[in-house]
Amino acid sequence: MKPAPDKSTWTPQQSAEYYGLPRWGQGHFCADDDGFVCVRPLGEDGPSIRIADVLAEAEAEHGLRPPLTIRVQDLLRRRVEMLNEAFRRAIEQEAYAGNYRGVFPIKVNQLREVVEEILDAGRAYDFGLEAGSKPELLIALSQLDRKGDLLICNGYKDMDYIRAALLGVRLGREVILVIEQFSEVDAIIKVTREMGVEPNIGFRVKLSAPGEGKWATSTGDNAKFGLTAAEIVAAAKKLKRAKMGHCLKLVHFHIGSQVPNILTIKKAVSEAARFYCEICKMGFALKYLDVGGGLGIDYDGSRTNFESSMNYSMGEYARDIVFNIKNVCEQAEIPVPDIISESGRALVAPHSILVIEAVDRIVKIPEEADKLTTKKKPHPLLADLIYILENRDNHGALERFHDAQQKKEEAANLFSLGYLDLATRAKADTLFWQICAKIQASLKAEGYVPEDLENLGALLAEQYVCNFSVFQSLLDHWALDQLFPIAPLQRLGEEPTIEATLVDITCDSDGKVSEFVDLEDVRHSLRLHPLGKDPYFLGIFLVGAYQDIMGDLHNLFGRVNEVHVFLEEDEEDGFYIEETIRGFSTDEVLNFIQHKGADLTRAMKKQIDTATRNDIVKPREGVRLLNLYTDMLAQKTYLRPGDNSKPIKKKSGG
Ligand SMILES: *Cc1c(COP(=O)(O)O)cnc(C)c1O
Repeated sequence: MKPAPDKSTWTPQQSAEYYGLPRWGQGHFCADDDGFVCVRPLGEDGPSIRIADVLAEAEAEHGLRPPLTIRVQDLLRRRVEMLNEAFRRAIEQEAYAGNYRGVFPIKVNQLREVVEEILDAGRAYDFGLEAGSKPELLIALSQLDRKGDLLICNGYKDMDYIRAALLGVRLGREVILVIEQFSEVDAIIKVTREMGVEPNIGFRVKLSAPGEGKWATSTGDNAKFGLTAAEIVAAAKKLKRAKMGHCLKLVHFHIGSQVPNILTIKKAVSEAARFYCEICKMGFALKYLDVGGGLGIDYDGSRTNFESSMNYSMGEYARDIVFNIKNVCEQAEIPVPDIISESGRALVAPHSILVIEAVDRIVKIPEEADKLTTKKKPHPLLADLIYILENRDNHGALERFHDAQQKKEEAANLFSLGYLDLATRAKADTLFWQICAKIQASLKAEGYVPEDLENLGALLAEQYVCNFSVFQSLLDHWALDQLFPIAPLQRLGEEPTIEATLVDITCDSDGKVSEFVDLEDVRHSLRLHPLGKDPYFLGIFLVGAYQDIMGDLHNLFGRVNEVHVFLEEDEEDGFYIEETIRGFSTDEVLNFIQHKGADLTRAMKKQIDTATRNDIVKPREGVRLLNLYTDMLAQKTYLRPGDNSKPIKKKSGG
């Protein structure tokens, strides 16, 4: 048994340190003195909101329980300001003669409230939007309502896409059609003539500077987007011949998302700036250089070029872009362009927190296991295991582990052949895990761990069953092994003692989280608290980019509940919930796959009627059974807390 932790000396700050809050939180997340995780939307010096209070409010006032997405709208605004200020400062420091105008790529988070908040916070900076498909273009056109609003049109384009973009031009927006495929040149010329409206045109260039990170294939010779040097020359000629040379305004590149290494960005920017200068020298009056996305998020807080991290700051990113463009243009004696960037992840990832509830534990060693070893005359196999457990021979860890493995296998074989009963098999398994736990504990004292024993921790880790679906809410973790920081939202003043991994409630063994952020490399388990009477909530942080829309309905678990939180100094706990979005009901999810709720209900009614007619159920019971069915159709797809579970309590204020 582990010694009981000394509760009196463990502090919330120690937990915060263990979970990495000060590192990946960048001042926006911290632990308070009572052991609760708080969000500080405006940064270190600003007001702070207890996430547990938001949960209590969501349940009490809106009936919404986790799984729950919390959007911290002020934090989203803050990120928009930070990005724009970073570029403004860089332009000032470098005495750069051009301007900066950012656009938000809608694909990173399409939710109306997110797009609107970004545009509202970006008004002062002339912040615009980027669209990569027709639906996104329609969103952008409706949202950008002022003269000169910037709209960058990327992605594959058909005639309809181009027509819609020219509609924006007609209304006075600064719309730029970025040519990604050579065939788009002819299409744009054709639609321009048809509508009698002239577009602004950009070229997306295929850089030879390689990308880096998970999304590195967005550039290079095999990228699916962009024009080669030869295509650029040909496309430029084509535009000139069509008397549309003056429409060419922009050079664009995108080296992929979450670029971990600043060197990658420096090289790409310099190469793109060379393209810019050369196209200018061909006689085109370019105006913009668009550096795409790629600005990272330091998910593990390590500040390294590890793929979950980034070895640069937002300020450094802006300075390097401004400096390198200026440098290349000066050498070529070409006036510097206005700079556009398309940062998505860096703007929206931090504002969103996914809250899930741990509802059960899957343990290797049952609670009553201690009694197992005390029986007078145990089965010889158990006696052997007990011998190994007590280590009477004083063997080394590795040898004991191998011996125990052999005995466990023997037990399984004897059981299969009918020579061992279930109770003895159970005891053998438990003894095996007890031996592993003992070995693991002894390893902590030693420095070197043999390879066979390296995974012992992960093998022994308990599984916390959490009420959510990885496939709905954390798709990039499953698909790309992307790491997100995770921490309990309460009890940080208690030492976490249980090594655990998380499993979701889908019937899919991939529905789990067994890799966690760490300063070096990754952790294969996370220390958590034993589950008690009060609900135990975990926060998954920095999930505001890409995860929402890519989630799927595996096992028919639907979209989760959502609340949008604003700072409010007139409220005692510092916030209010402005907006709520209910998660999908079972009925809604079933509708997607053509099982209409009314049809299902009718079919059930028919079965119940038949049963009633045949005297299998009484009429009144039949009505109750049908109500049970229809009630469930109206409910959420996730687990509902037990009937006598406690409501979430407010932890501060009124
Ligand atoms: C996806 C995408 C972005 C956004 O990239 P982030 O790394 O999220 O900032 C920007 N531009 C283009 C063309 C994209 O495809």
